[in-house]
Amino acid sequence: MSASIRATCKACDTAIELPSAKFIIAADQASYEFVCPACKVRNFCEADRNIIELLIEGGVPIRRPRSHPEKPPPGAVITEDDLIAFGLAIEGLDDLASQA
Ligand SMILES: [Zn+2]
Repeated sequence: MSASIRATCKACDTAIELPSAKFIIAADQASYEFVCPACKVRNFCEADRNIIELLIEGGVPIRRPRSHPEKPPPGAVITEDDLIAFGLAIEGLDDLASQA
């Protein structure tokens, strides 16, 4: 379902009415965005759950969050040999430091 949505631009205070496709919901930030047709400023608006649900019902698309760098895809499993090699490397660093 597509609808027109009314909003007010925070930059130029113009009351606008745009098709829902001109808005976007930022799902990870509980907010929505639109570009003011009068002044071309992108508006970022915080929204509570009720407003987000109304926007979704009105057909506003949702921008999914990007994957977080804190959760990278899994890599190779660390083995006992890797730990031994790491320990030897650290001991080597200590030797270098004592020579400096
Ligand atoms: Zn504006």
